[in-house]
Amino acid sequence: MVTKPAQVMVITPHPDDAEFGVAGTVARWVREGREVIYVVCTNGDKGTSDANMNPEELMRIREQEQLAAAKLLGVREVIFLRHPDQTLEDTPEFRKEIVRLIRMYQPEIVVTADPYRRYIWHRDHRITGQVVLDAVFPYARDSLSYPDLLEQGLQPHKVREVWLWASEDPNYRSDITDTFDIKVAALRCHKSQIENNLPPDWEDQLRQWFRSMAEGEDFELAEAFHQAEVQWRVARSPKK
Ligand SMILES: [Zn+2]
Repeated sequence: MVTKPAQVMVITPHPDDAEFGVAGTVARWVREGREVIYVVCTNGDKGTSDANMNPEELMRIREQEQLAAAKLLGVREVIFLRHPDQTLEDTPEFRKEIVRLIRMYQPEIVVTADPYRRYIWHRDHRITGQVVLDAVFPYARDSLSYPDLLEQGLQPHKVREVWLWASEDPNYRSDITDTFDIKVAALRCHKSQIENNLPPDWEDQLRQWFRSMAEGEDFELAEAFHQAEVQWRVARSPKK
């Protein structure tokens, strides 16, 4: 049941969120030799303004786009949970699904959407972030949480850090200066989401956006996160 561990698990509500949130950092981690896997919670079958688009066809297109982006970034594996778009709920079943994957892949770092963004925020993003935080702690950690998972050989696992993108309270800026181009290329794989809407200066706007996240740092471009160390570890020095 336990598969080859991956140091980083990115859990994304929809195909494309991870590329906006963390792709530059993913590309850097892969260059550094870390194994990264993606878990895509919904099938994204409502992400279109084309009223004639068939949901099954859209799901197929978006999975292909996600696979193309992941391949470009060097992500080892993409797991599609295929929940219908806009239907995620904080249920015991969804939480257990995430716990199972955490125990299978034993990541040191889990990356997802910040559930605590106020006001207008996609419900799937809020629910994904909340369920992932709960799955990391305490459910993935405690052997008595899911005796049946233990019987299947899925041992408790302690995730070391959780990184949340789209946070209103970022406390860590990850240097993506050298991987910004590959992030842009990965974003461009999501043609169904961006292609028709791109202004001519889209890339400049993106660069400006990620430059603002690096403000105060000695590098040009950053992805910003709220980074939480899970409390069973002693404090470590900040990473570069
Ligand atoms: Zn999304």
